[in-house]
Amino acid sequence: MTNENDDSPMRASGHHDHHRRHLHHDMPSDPALRVKALESVLVEKGLVRPEAIDAWIETYETHVGPHNGARVVARAWTDPDFKARLLADGTVAIGEMGLSGLEATHITVVENTSEIHNMVVCTLCSCYPWSLLGLPPTWYKSAPYRSRAVLEPRGVLREFGLDLGEDVEIRVWDSTAEIRYLVLPERPEGADGMTEEQLAGLITRDSMVGVAKL
Ligand code: FE
Repeated sequence: MTNENDDSPMRASGHHDHHRRHLHHDMPSDPALRVKALESVLVEKGLVRPEAIDAWIETYETHVGPHNGARVVARAWTDPDFKARLLADGTVAIGEMGLSGLEATHITVVENTSEIHNMVVCTLCSCYPWSLLGLPPTWYKSAPYRSRAVLEPRGVLREFGLDLGEDVEIRVWDSTAEIRYLVLPERPEGADGMTEEQLAGLITRDSMVGVAKL
């Protein structure tokens, strides 16, 4: 950090000014790059160990990830009783599968049908069902998605490549720290006769956030 005194005109040499402008212009606009820059600084200062960050990412990318949500969805498609329990109380039904997250959060599962399409956002920050979907994607945390998902969900979905007919009602669910949402996508046609495990392989993260269909 620069000392406040460095801002005094007495000390602001031409070189210093140039340096400051240079730094400012070099601030990456891409959040991923900013994170990388932040990580480098923290590691450099000995505040975090890179292995700790890697282990955390590894946990969320491989152990805790969309494959957990996919297991829940596949079971709901193949077990009507489980599906009923899941829609009635997502937290309890997901707990049955041993997938309760670390966070004490209520999970609400919303079902897509041919008439209703659900999509999930966190307008405030980036609340997300981590235990089921892993780390939220960058776009989920972006200001445009957070505001536009509510204002013009149909347009946002079109940008994701999902063009829903005007007859389909879109419901947007705003996550909070207390309630997080998982979309139960429609079971794709032609998936008859597949096992629960095979079905789980079809289910994408984006379909469970509600920005894609299967
Ligand atoms: Fe949030």
